[in-house]
Amino acid sequence: MRYVSTRNTSKNFDFKDVFIKGLADDGGLFVPDSLKKYSENEIRDFKNLSYSELAKKIVYPFIDNFMSETELSKIIDKSYSVFRKDNVIDLIKLGDRSVLELFHGPTLAFKDVAMQLLGNFYEHYLNSENQNINIVVATSGDTGAAAIDAIKGKKKINIFVLHPDNRVSSVQRKLMTTGKDENVFNIAIKGNFDDCQNLVKSMFADKKFSNDIKMSGVNSINWARIIAQSVYYFYSYLLVEDTSEPTNFSVPTGNFGDVYAGYLAKKMGLPINKLIVATNQNDILHRAISEGSYEAEKVSETISPSMDIQIASNFERLIFDLNDQDDQQTSIDMKNIKEKGQYFISEDKLNKISKNFLSSRMNEDETLEVIKSVYEKFAVVLDPHTAIGYGAFDKHNLKGNNIVLATAHPCKFPDAIQSAINLKVDLPNELTFILDQKENYEIVENDVEKVKQHIKDRA
Ligand SMILES: *Cc1c(COP(=O)(O)O)cnc(C)c1O
Repeated sequence: MRYVSTRNTSKNFDFKDVFIKGLADDGGLFVPDSLKKYSENEIRDFKNLSYSELAKKIVYPFIDNFMSETELSKIIDKSYSVFRKDNVIDLIKLGDRSVLELFHGPTLAFKDVAMQLLGNFYEHYLNSENQNINIVVATSGDTGAAAIDAIKGKKKINIFVLHPDNRVSSVQRKLMTTGKDENVFNIAIKGNFDDCQNLVKSMFADKKFSNDIKMSGVNSINWARIIAQSVYYFYSYLLVEDTSEPTNFSVPTGNFGDVYAGYLAKKMGLPINKLIVATNQNDILHRAISEGSYEAEKVSETISPSMDIQIASNFERLIFDLNDQDDQQTSIDMKNIKEKGQYFISEDKLNKISKNFLSSRMNEDETLEVIKSVYEKFAVVLDPHTAIGYGAFDKHNLKGNNIVLATAHPCKFPDAIQSAINLKVDLPNELTFILDQKENYEIVENDVEKVKQHIKDRA
């Protein structure tokens, strides 16, 4: 499989470039130039596979010569052995919908599912490379912990994680900062998540700096993450499949990564009816999909901080498809977004979007109310992000198999749970130790030169 940039389709890349670079040099996102498509029969044949066996089938065609099928198989087994569930995920039925629990990995959010794999991909790549690399990543709370867990203690690789100071929950922060590995560096930026993301972007754009430190990225635009995430759409579809009924997914969304993985699964042939893009009050994607106006506003802080985002990086991949894979038009659209902060989606493009996507927005009170009513009805505690996904099905009347992606464990957001249902949710036993460990992080101003110097001194 070959890859191209959304802003220049005349140049080809292989998976190794795509994985290590993350972002194309022209600023575009990597996309495959063709996809392996599965027929209904082929998909039905996946039904008896374990999660890891299915992951091997889905992932392998994307990585061609990056490693052999046997090597991939070993890496997938290793990556998924650290999960608390034999089959990585769990699917539970709550009333008229199913909840796909993706938070049984080491850092209690869905991001572990892809990140564990990426950590082992890096290890494989560096085995045969005579160099050290430095991962620099921005996090709204969950990516950082997942990336650190996946990279910590590995050779020839350091990781620098930028989180917005005081804007992640203390459990989220402790999951990042209580480790003792010498290759992990936490930086609290005096700003919000978009500031952190912009700092990382400008460090990548500074070719001298990024080449000097051999910078690599694992943020949600990294194609390898998208592939890994598409697997659980297949797996959960096969768990609930009732072929007479359509299957819909509701996906708590920030950067448009996870829901894009569902769209990718659909493009590969998985018969998904609708994907609901479920946002909190930072609703740029809801406004884009429901009204056609993709326009950044000020980020507000919410009880679902991992979705407090106004620039949805992966949306460029959808824009590229809406433009019928026209790189010129995509470049123009992205330039407008950068310069004017706006992108208006035409009627016919909105029609195309609505074939695959619906959207919803939920404010703080509604989110708390969903947590409360689900707890009262089913004695199950949803985290605030998952609650937004769950509630989205109440805003759209969709028949069939309705699956909500449960993106984080509720114990990561104790304050929100406390105010919704006055209950304290404990961490899983194996993680309670983080609560009284010493934390390691340094606070740095929202200033790209200062951050670069900080990293250079430690890389
Ligand atoms: C990252 C995250 C999201 C948003 O995922 P995107 O891929 O950025 O859309 C939702 N919920 C939780 C708990 C997260 O950590």
